Amino acid sequence: MHGYAGRVLWINLSRNEVRTENINESTAKLFIGGRGLGLKIIFDLNLNLSSIDPYGTENPLIIATGPLGGTRIPLATRAAAIFKSPLTNRWSYSTVGGTLGAYMKYAGVDAVVITGASPRPIHLVISDGKVEFRDARDLWGLDTVETEHAIKREFRDSAVLTIGPAGENKVPYACIGHEDWRQFGRTGAGAVMGSKGVKAITFVPVNKTVDIANDKAYQDLVRSLGRQAVTNPGMIPYRQGGTVRLIDTGNGMGFFPSIYWTKVVMPNWEDISWEKVLKPKYFIKHGACLYCPVACHKVVRSSNGEYDLEYETTMALGGLTGVHDPQKLIDLAELADRLGFDTISLGNTIAFLIYLGEKGIVKGAPKWGDYEGIRRLIIDTAYRRGLGELAALGTKAIAEKLGVQDLAIHVKGLEPAAYDPRTLKGMILNNAISERGADHLWSSAYAVDITGQAGGRFATGEEKVKAIMDIEERNALYDSMLLCKFGRAIYTWDVIRDVMNAVTGFNYTVDELRETAQRIIVLHRYMNGTTIEQDRLPPRWLREPVEYEGKRYVVTEEEWSFMVKKYYELRGYDEVGRPKQDTLARLKILT
Ligand code: SF4
Repeated sequence: MHGYAGRVLWINLSRNEVRTENINESTAKLFIGGRGLGLKIIFDLNLNLSSIDPYGTENPLIIATGPLGGTRIPLATRAAAIFKSPLTNRWSYSTVGGTLGAYMKYAGVDAVVITGASPRPIHLVISDGKVEFRDARDLWGLDTVETEHAIKREFRDSAVLTIGPAGENKVPYACIGHEDWRQFGRTGAGAVMGSKGVKAITFVPVNKTVDIANDKAYQDLVRSLGRQAVTNPGMIPYRQGGTVRLIDTGNGMGFFPSIYWTKVVMPNWEDISWEKVLKPKYFIKHGACLYCPVACHKVVRSSNGEYDLEYETTMALGGLTGVHDPQKLIDLAELADRLGFDTISLGNTIAFLIYLGEKGIVKGAPKWGDYEGIRRLIIDTAYRRGLGELAALGTKAIAEKLGVQDLAIHVKGLEPAAYDPRTLKGMILNNAISERGADHLWSSAYAVDITGQAGGRFATGEEKVKAIMDIEERNALYDSMLLCKFGRAIYTWDVIRDVMNAVTGFNYTVDELRETAQRIIVLHRYMNGTTIEQDRLPPRWLREPVEYEGKRYVVTEEEWSFMVKKYYELRGYDEVGRPKQDTLARLKILT
């Protein structure tokens, strides 16, 4: 098959067994790769969601690339991890940039499915479709970056995945690190990897080519998309200011969640302004994922050297906690990455404890902006000691333990990113219907809101719902092909079709690709058994207004209800949000 290595490796760590399966063409065409393929593999295992322990041997940790991985199509070197999340207790996924998507293909695999658990720390080295099991006791205890650097001393040309102490100690929002500062960030893939005793996975290339169906069309697309990636008006901001430029946008437009979701403009935000402070005083250089001409990574000066700062982290460890000293914020972010946390969940959880401490509900919590206290708590959380034991539960479990569910900000157990839905109303729908929980990238609705599309940021009507569904579908494909979502300005439906057909030769139509995206979205909901009860939003978003430019904003019950029910209708769900039988049949999920 063009575009694929054609191989899935099944690794059982309990039995030290590896077997290889070929991907059949029908599965590839219907589910593509990455997120779609991973969900399909789990669906076919016929596992009962509620009886799978996320830390148990049965929980499969799947790492998958897509047909574009390893090609020179710009922005196409991502990979996906698919697993049952220990944070949300749902089937979930995460994606990562860097080099992984290409190097998996170069190592001769489309996906690895890891089950079982190793009795001792282990490092998996994968090359030419084969697996070497290495003792990793000497790596256990190192942080994510130290581990990767130690491995790269031997495997200089490789893609390495690592966990840090947070993953080793199974903190449910631990990430998997890659290329120093890239992560499978959301919903706890690092904790699942840690539960299996896997400290690192290294993909070593044997052949850096990908079999392409239509070379002439492919070469033309590589050239033209490479040009557009740096000239399209929708791409230029990523090149110039990465994601951190949104600190200024978010505070200027009043959607930057701050002081644990009580404000949408961070007090003293100018201290961490990209344009006024970070760019002139801290910026060192641009960085990029493999073969990407956009180079959206913005490397800044940390106390240890260099660190690649992202917008979401500045919100979670800065805005939500009140840390507005730029050097301290950068250093906290680097510490969190090295320990192996999803910084969005970590910042939310710590800010929740500060908020509860202020109310007298939690003793010994840091104060707003208390750099030293927050730093100590981050370290204690990675090692599950002191107050860190509580923080290591994550927001939802803390709230349940303390009986303060109505104060916690999460959806389906996942803490939200840096877009307050009270002032970016498309995020009402995004956060409600995402299968990962409050995941801003499920539909990237914030981009619709910020750019004023579909009636503007406060619109909640049918036009907005449809605009969000369009990106939701494209995102499902991007996560499966695998493409970076920042390329949405150039990867329109027609371009997705052209790229997929040039690489795979599957001759998709746009309608078939839309149906494929819908299949991936609906299958995920069906596997999780999600209904309207799980699509509800945190009560504080509905009852506590935030102020922006003298006006007060909440999410109303009517806004949530209209958007969610219109979405159900258009997606082919029943009134409680379950996919209808004819929807499942039409999308070839149930035959
Ligand atoms: S736009 Fe940024 S995140 Fe996306 S592939 Fe390029 S460098 Fe990586």
